[in-house]
Amino acid sequence: MKYANNILETIGNTPMVKLNKITSEIDALVLAKVEYFNPGHSCKDRMALKMVEDAEADGRLKPGGTIIEGTSGNTGMGLALAAIVKGYKLICVITDKQSKEKMDILRAVGAKVVICPTDVEPNDPRSYYSVSKRLAEETPNSWYVNQYDNLSNTQANYEQTGPEIWEQTDGKVTHFIVGVGTGGTISGVAKFLKEKNPNIKIWGVDTYGSVFKKYKETGIFDENEVYSYVTEGIGEDILPQNVNFDLIDGFTKVTDKDAAVYTRKLALEEGLFVGMSSGSAIKGLLQLKDEFGPDDVVVVLFHDSGSRYVGKIFNDDWMRDRGYLEDEITKAEDLIKE
Ligand code: PMP
Repeated sequence: MKYANNILETIGNTPMVKLNKITSEIDALVLAKVEYFNPGHSCKDRMALKMVEDAEADGRLKPGGTIIEGTSGNTGMGLALAAIVKGYKLICVITDKQSKEKMDILRAVGAKVVICPTDVEPNDPRSYYSVSKRLAEETPNSWYVNQYDNLSNTQANYEQTGPEIWEQTDGKVTHFIVGVGTGGTISGVAKFLKEKNPNIKIWGVDTYGSVFKKYKETGIFDENEVYSYVTEGIGEDILPQNVNFDLIDGFTKVTDKDAAVYTRKLALEEGLFVGMSSGSAIKGLLQLKDEFGPDDVVVVLFHDSGSRYVGKIFNDDWMRDRGYLEDEITKAEDLIKE
């Protein structure tokens, strides 16, 4: 018989899929690491389990304890799976810009969800950073995960995602491109790949409204770069410890509109029903096309599934309200075109 002993054993070993149409202008082999094949439908399952295991190992998380985290949803989902299998309670503190689907999904897997305003400073007592910390102080036998500064996050991707990419490309990968939020994915993968081959180039995809690109280029944390944006999962108004800028060769920024439009293109042109940060990642890759040559093997990572965004990017009214469909062609001949 061939079965997993519990859902956690199915995390990782996600497929790598060649992109064909959307990358037609790129003169290189482009492969997507498709992370929605994880049981919680995102890459974050990997780091959530690793953070829980490391906290159990050194006594920060004790039997029957409560896990508390500020999460945009995907980390919460991963933590929920770990909490169910291992017998912990879970409180997820989330901002009000996150999709309703993400909140409903978290509740479906047993998490208590606390919603905080998006448009407040990180040190405002109402911010999701502050509320998570306060709840952790007030809740007995609790553990505050802090995925931003918890280096088990990077370590999970160093131990799993990096080696998987190396093996799936037979060590031929030349570039890795990924959206950056906490930084765990990019830093863990970058550390592993650069140890194997220091010539591999690592590019982060950032959003307008986030500090990463400017910080990498100037060393300045510029508060003027910070404003609210729509894309979920990437970009920050803080510098998390998990972003290892030394391992990242550069950042490119993608607009909310492009992220949304390119997420739709991935579904229509490649059959990849992915989330909005994957639209950012592929648009970022296309913006970098002059970096790649015919012998290159470019890997892009798609963090999560489109099912979390059906009420947003995959909803025409939502797209139109934001002006994201303004270039839409509605000629009859286009509607019936094969
Ligand atoms: N995309 C999505 C949808 C995410 O949930 C996250 C996690 N915040 C990221 C990208 C960025 O990954 P990381 O936090 O590892 O930088």
